[in-house]
Amino acid sequence: MESKKEDVRRKHIRLHMEGALTARDKVGVQDFVLLDAYTSESAFVDNLRKRFNENLIYTYIGTLLVSVNPYQELGIYTVSQMELYQGVNFFELPPHVYAIADNAYRMMCSELNNHFILISGESGAGKTEASKKILQYFAVTCPMTQSLQIARDRLLLSNPVLEAFGNARTLRNDNSSRFGKYMDIQFDFQGIPVGGHIISYLIEKSRVVYQNQGERNFHIFYQLLAGGEEERLAFLGLERDPQLYKYLSQGHCAKESSINDKNDWKTVSNAFSVIDFTEADLENLFGIIASVLHLGNIGFEEDDQGCATIPDTHEIKWIAKLLGVHPADLLEALTHRKIEAKTEEDFTRKTVIGLLDIYGFEVFDKNGFEQFCINYCNEKLQQLLIERTLKAEQAEYEMEGIEWEPIKYFNNKIICDLVEERHKGIISILDEECIRPGPATDLSFLEKLEEKVGKHAHFETRKLAGPKGRKRIGWMEFRLLHYAGEVTYCTKGFLEKNNDLLYRHLKEVLCKSKNVILRECFLRAELENRRRPPTVGTQFKNSLSSLLEILISKEPSYIRCIKPNDRKEPSKFDDFLIRHQIKYLGLMEHLRVRRAGFAYRRKYEHFLQRYKSLCPDTWPHWHGPPAEGVERLINYMGYKPEEYKLGKTKIFIRFPRTLFATEDALEFC
Ligand code: ADP
Ligand code: MG
Repeated sequence: MESKKEDVRRKHIRLHMEGALTARDKVGVQDFVLLDAYTSESAFVDNLRKRFNENLIYTYIGTLLVSVNPYQELGIYTVSQMELYQGVNFFELPPHVYAIADNAYRMMCSELNNHFILISGESGAGKTEASKKILQYFAVTCPMTQSLQIARDRLLLSNPVLEAFGNARTLRNDNSSRFGKYMDIQFDFQGIPVGGHIISYLIEKSRVVYQNQGERNFHIFYQLLAGGEEERLAFLGLERDPQLYKYLSQGHCAKESSINDKNDWKTVSNAFSVIDFTEADLENLFGIIASVLHLGNIGFEEDDQGCATIPDTHEIKWIAKLLGVHPADLLEALTHRKIEAKTEEDFTRKTVIGLLDIYGFEVFDKNGFEQFCINYCNEKLQQLLIERTLKAEQAEYEMEGIEWEPIKYFNNKIICDLVEERHKGIISILDEECIRPGPATDLSFLEKLEEKVGKHAHFETRKLAGPKGRKRIGWMEFRLLHYAGEVTYCTKGFLEKNNDLLYRHLKEVLCKSKNVILRECFLRAELENRRRPPTVGTQFKNSLSSLLEILISKEPSYIRCIKPNDRKEPSKFDDFLIRHQIKYLGLMEHLRVRRAGFAYRRKYEHFLQRYKSLCPDTWPHWHGPPAEGVERLINYMGYKPEEYKLGKTKIFIRFPRTLFATEDALEFC
């Protein structure tokens, strides 16, 4: 068995070497650092296209994995593929998401340190699929006892539940995750998975009450209506037809042929039972879901005094019943005002592998507060990536005793500061507008921005005359020059979304709810704390900074996902769209940093083993120190001094052409 596996592996190694090096014109290079024109975006796109056309969806930039969504099953996620990647050196097999998972796992086991795998890309690019593949890889390949299989199933099955509550149909993706997800798997000292956490970030709350044309609310609402048992719906006061609910029908696509809500309901119900939800839990949970639908159908009117009233109390009765609150209290709270509170997540950690599945840079025709937060998050993650890559390069040079060659790169800290700096950054300015007495509006916020950061090199406003050919900045807009390019944000709604007020009065009612889940969400102790809770912008900034603290303490791996076309079609490679993503994913910048010094590096032993046949001194055997053998070999091959450097344990080759020439020479001997 082992030897058969070894055979398959060898065959793959040979195929990969041939694929990556000799037949590179057809299938491209498997690592972008081997591109000669590594600063050219066109060369990058060409390489990606060649590979995509051959169904090779994965390519490395050093240890970063670039993945292009194939929108078709390629048969590359089988158990035998998983076995193939187990315990193999990173570069010995074709690039694969399993190689990333295996590498993280082995490093964690051997060095007993923590890892994280950061998966980013725009909606529909394949992030969630990639994280599922990684979880499956661990589930299949990690040592496992029977009791642990139960835990494993739970981990895998938590996914449909998370997706039901956190994913929705959007124009870009029928199953778009509308939240950032950090998941970690804890392993004991033997590398056996023993538990895990899941934390979500910045769920798109506004979707519950509003959906754009062609988009839907979160799946769970439709699943409940389509698949829920008759008695359950009767208990919740719900009808099957989603068109009857305002919150489900604004996007005009409540019934979507590509989504089978009834079947999905079965999957989710099954998952609920595996992850130990009791009937009482479900009753509470769906009580809340149903009351959201009833809430959406409440009709508010204005009375003679200009106060809000609810003439028809039919829905109120249902909500009061489902939430276990007094109808009169609820009515009063919904039509009168006071002020509020909110919780933050906390977590501990055993060695872990964390998986972060998070939205990539977003640029739409209209960009609002959500895009501002998402893009700020990407700015921070980019900063971490560049710093870590530079640091790793520097550490390797030091370890190998090679002189450090300074790399010119764009440090985006200046943009992060513009957004987050205390008292001076955009979030602080927004917060100030939200709390200052007197009438603050989205326009007065924009004026404050102009006054305080108007001269910043990465900020532009409507007052800018602007060079010809650039899109004009509208009356309510400002523009940020992000690392990935410029984005124009409309300030409409910034204040309201940042405030995210839930009036105190309403919270008082919910604290007294008989619905256990709701009571956990609205704690009395928090209500008694009269301090103003942090704004959404500040909460986001804080949770991002604690996320980064977690990430900084771990060894990183990166997966960058690319969506090949906007039509969810296989075999369609849209150059324009892909160039755009390469830019927003910061891939060229990453490649530049990774390649600035040397395109290729290998341990002397491995290099010698592969090329020893090229030099009479080293063939068939070299008995001296490998470093000396390599020196003889490259002298014989005529390497010029500027083409390479010799470190303590590795040879560093500056240009791919040197390596390719050496590789081609193999064919002739
Ligand atoms: P994201 O999380 O980035 O928004 P998803 O992971 O949900 O995107 O992917 C969107 C869809 O693309 C999936 O539902 C699936 O149909 C397809 N897809 C993504 N990755 C792959 C893959 N590796 N192989 C086959 N299909 C994929
Ligand atoms: Mg997703």
